[in-house]
Amino acid sequence: MELELKSVVLPGVSPERPIVIAGPCSAETEEQVMNTARSLAAKDIKIFRAGVWKPRTKPGGFEGVGATGLKWLKRVKEETGMYVTTEVATREHVFEALKAGIDMLWIGARTTVNPFAVQEIADALQGVDIPVLIKNPVNPDLELWIGAIERIYGAGIRRIAAIHRGFSSYDKKIYRNLPLWHIPIELRRRIPQLPIFCDPSHIGGKRELIAPLSQQAMDLSLDGLIIESHCNPDEAFSDAGQQITPDVLDYVLNLLVIRNETQTTENLSELRRQIDHIDEQLLELLAKRMRISREIGVYKKEHNMPILQSPRYNEILVNRSHLGESLDLSSDFVKEILKEIHEESVRQQMIIMSK
Ligand code: PEP
Ligand code: MN
Repeated sequence: MELELKSVVLPGVSPERPIVIAGPCSAETEEQVMNTARSLAAKDIKIFRAGVWKPRTKPGGFEGVGATGLKWLKRVKEETGMYVTTEVATREHVFEALKAGIDMLWIGARTTVNPFAVQEIADALQGVDIPVLIKNPVNPDLELWIGAIERIYGAGIRRIAAIHRGFSSYDKKIYRNLPLWHIPIELRRRIPQLPIFCDPSHIGGKRELIAPLSQQAMDLSLDGLIIESHCNPDEAFSDAGQQITPDVLDYVLNLLVIRNETQTTENLSELRRQIDHIDEQLLELLAKRMRISREIGVYKKEHNMPILQSPRYNEILVNRSHLGESLDLSSDFVKEILKEIHEESVRQQMIIMSK
């Protein structure tokens, strides 16, 4: 589906990268919302976020203050001039948010996974013109993410952006949600005109990861950042460990290095020419390797030998990964490539056997 999108940048907000959205994970009290909002406005933040309906993993946690919080967001708009955004997960949320004059909506990761829920939101948005930001689904499924974008587009919404907030994994180590950058990169290839935000707060799950993740997002030319900021992060009712004060947020944003992607220096062009040439050589070598594999296939067929010879495959994996390491290549990377090459060789030989 070819999407004809319009800019999500609201009047008065600079389109310069990064477009920043900041505010607490949740609206907790009117005082917390107003204190945080005033400090963020003083740091020149133009778009304020706060969740009022909170999807929580287990019952019994803080599930948000509900529609009451929308009144506080309205007050933020009136008193600070910031735009406000909140998460919607149901038809009722959409109606309430629109009624309260919320400027921008976002769809959370736990909602994007569910086409019924996304369709319900899309139906509620029919005929409305409001920017909608769509977080990636919790699982690393690009098609599901694009499907959600298409459903919202199908409702007539044209101001759409995506938010990369990382992907769940069973084994949580450094990140709360794995960044898997190749997925937003592939999304950019598939829908080049779609702005992509990064949510380093939910990827990292820890304050100290916000700065490096934001920098990575900028280095990958993402358009904006949505960062959780709270006037008193340690006391936050939700996601306390990943929220930063408006002062720290300002510090993190000022440290970001924004590289200008359109400046291609002569040196870079030369290096790219070298890469193009190496890629050609790699492909020619691969073609040659496949030709030899097919010859081996013919030999195996004539001598009634099976295609798979496990000792030989293991020997290749072990020897080559040692060789790769001595050449400064990671052994996982070498194994992954060899596995793919081996699978293709097996496929080629199977074709020969079946002739
Ligand atoms: C949030 O932004 O507070 C939130 C609930 O995020 P996610 O949907 O990414 O988990
Ligand atoms: Mn949160």
